[in-house]
Amino acid sequence: MRIVVPVKQVPATDAVTMDPETGTMVRSAAASVINPLDLYALEAALRLRDSSGDGDVVALTMGPPPAEAVLREAVSLGCDRGILLSDTRFGGADTWATSRVLAAAIERLKPIDLVITGERATDGDTAQVGPGIAAWLDIPLATYVAHVTGVDGAAATVTVERLVEDGYQIVRLSTPALLTVVKEIAPLRLPTLDGVMRARRAEFERWGAVDLAVPAEELGLKGSPTRVVNIATPQVTREGETIDAGDEAGVAQAAVRIADLLEDAGVVR
Ligand SMILES: Cc1cc2nc3c(=O)[nH]c(=O)nc-3n(C[C@H](O)[C@H](O)[C@H](O)COP(=O)(O)OP(=O)(O)OC[C@H]3O[C@@H](n4cnc5c(N)ncnc54)[C@H](O)[C@@H]3O)c2cc1C
Repeated sequence: MRIVVPVKQVPATDAVTMDPETGTMVRSAAASVINPLDLYALEAALRLRDSSGDGDVVALTMGPPPAEAVLREAVSLGCDRGILLSDTRFGGADTWATSRVLAAAIERLKPIDLVITGERATDGDTAQVGPGIAAWLDIPLATYVAHVTGVDGAAATVTVERLVEDGYQIVRLSTPALLTVVKEIAPLRLPTLDGVMRARRAEFERWGAVDLAVPAEELGLKGSPTRVVNIATPQVTREGETIDAGDEAGVAQAAVRIADLLEDAGVVR
């Protein structure tokens, strides 16, 4: 079976800064890593490949040339192949244009059985790209997948358990299909020495706009129907009071103070 895993390079910290002029993320300010939630997508794909006994796992990333580092990490974990989607024309893409390019690349990799993405990226955090890819490819989608309980190659189906508020929802999809997975999918593996050596030597294909059947006006900023029009840090306008209730007497005083405040505010009488 062929499984494609889109993986994103994200800042290594959640202390992300934004450029107030352009409304975009200042990516040069922080070191970058593979999106932590994409490791679960890779893990799910590697386990499915290994249990099926054949096939390959292809890692795909759209980003500037340094994003190749996430492909190297994917290979160190056991991926068979990595493809970097990099072109200045892809820059400034919103989730619509990002999923458009990823879908076009996956189209080139057909025949495929599954696409597995992370639940969401820790920087953009929209969780839209996985469903977006499924829509562009017009394939079935299951989000928040916690377990893959069956793959039937002959019937071309995959059965999964989706995490829902009060339990699991069991869904059978015809393949090719796209799954977005949650952490529960499987414990993560560590890279092996063999994997690290393979990753060090690995060379990655690089596909740009000319390699993908996407009209120029649908790429990057041009192809992005959404715009960040303003970036602002929320102003705290409510007044607060900290009551230090360090010991038993303090707790009693704090309780009286809180009761007075609630009474003044008309919340209790
Ligand atoms: C309105 C708007 C405008 C934006 N403008 C800009 C901009 O001008 N410049 C800019 O740099 N960013 C911009 N962004 C951010 C950019 O669109 C997102 O980083 C990108 O589309 C991915 O979305 P996300 O981070 O929310 O991923 P999610 O949808 O949360 O990611 C889900 C999964 O999709 C996959 N995935 C996501 N992105 C990639 C990728 N690049 N390669 C491979 N797999 C991926 C991963 O498996 C990931 O786990 C903008 C976002 C919005 C909403």
